[in-house]
Amino acid sequence: MNDIKSIDKEYIAGTYNRFDLQLVSGKGSILYDETGKSYIDMGSGIGVTAFGTADEEWKAAVNEQISKLQHTSNLYYTQPCALLAKTLCERTGMSKVFFSNSGAEANECAIKIARKYASKNKGADYFNIITIENSFHGRTLTTLAATGQAHYHELFNPLTPGFIHTPAEDIETLKVILAENKCAAIMVECIQGEGGVIPLSKDYLEGVAKLAKKHDILLIIDEVQTGNGRTGELYAYMNYDISPDLVSTAKGLGGGLPIGAVLINEKLQNILGFGDHGSTYGGNPVCCAAALSVINRIDEKLLCEVKEKSQFIFDAFENLKGVESVTGMGLMVGIKTTANSAEIVKECINKGVLCLTAKDKIRLLPALNIPMKELEKAVNIIKETIEERCN
Ligand SMILES: *Cc1c(COP(=O)(O)O)cnc(C)c1O
Repeated sequence: MNDIKSIDKEYIAGTYNRFDLQLVSGKGSILYDETGKSYIDMGSGIGVTAFGTADEEWKAAVNEQISKLQHTSNLYYTQPCALLAKTLCERTGMSKVFFSNSGAEANECAIKIARKYASKNKGADYFNIITIENSFHGRTLTTLAATGQAHYHELFNPLTPGFIHTPAEDIETLKVILAENKCAAIMVECIQGEGGVIPLSKDYLEGVAKLAKKHDILLIIDEVQTGNGRTGELYAYMNYDISPDLVSTAKGLGGGLPIGAVLINEKLQNILGFGDHGSTYGGNPVCCAAALSVINRIDEKLLCEVKEKSQFIFDAFENLKGVESVTGMGLMVGIKTTANSAEIVKECINKGVLCLTAKDKIRLLPALNIPMKELEKAVNIIKETIEERCN
């Protein structure tokens, strides 16, 4: 059985530094390895399994659709695709949706919309897109260019031109960039995820939104990680007093099946025309049925529970010895410890808790419906491990 690890090492391209752990099944927020050992899942596959593993309601939605029609291409209409788009628009006030298969592709689409809008309305030389230093927007050559972390860029140059990075929380630098460059849009994560779970302040993001309006550039919010209930609101931008032009999302949207989306506001609803963009898998009926079941379950009651569980996590770690800071929102939490976070995460795996890291922090992204009992147990094990390691 352990053969799987050596087969994987021999045949899978070496891009992933996997933990020494093979997962075979799960139920809710509990996962099992090939020996039957159980783990509490505090990472949900990087914020993807929004309602945990093999959730009954999610499975029913997927099974019903997969036994009827698994794929059609975008040459034809299907019900899950249309109904998911309608639901997303009704829940956000946006006007149109484009479906992709991943977060990077959702961002690619948002960038194409911004470039087309600017070139039609301001001129072909207004192509620059501003993003924030330390951001993460994906792995394609264009979304890498958007990503404000140089270490991802090395060896892959030249990347797509036309991206300018600006430091977070520094509105003056942004003003200078806007004065000196012809820009189409600014794209931000409300909470930098891969960058270390760092939220943008209300003052800064609301200031960015005002400047975007003033300079007639689009505001793109990358909600690939923060979206779909993660922060205690349906989308993280709803924690701020802003109205984005474009919202990209993915990760938790499909609850474990690959789907991304760009939500497009009224002003931009007719920018994309026939042939401007497309995706063979985009809007796949099984992925859309899964996503529809996820979105329909993110109601006031669930969001309230997310906020309560968030408070529980913050309370548990904020004054703990060895913890320097606790950041994030909802069930997206970063914990900076005095000891090495990767070592703590490794030790937690031995003790039966799966956590993530982000930069030098421990990152927690549990399922939105993680039972309180399991959350308490996992938090205690993480606390105990931090206390052991940080003395
Ligand atoms: C994960 C992530 C992406 C990339 O999503 P993929 O589905 O891996 O392409 C883009 N932006 C943010 C903010 C992310 O967290």
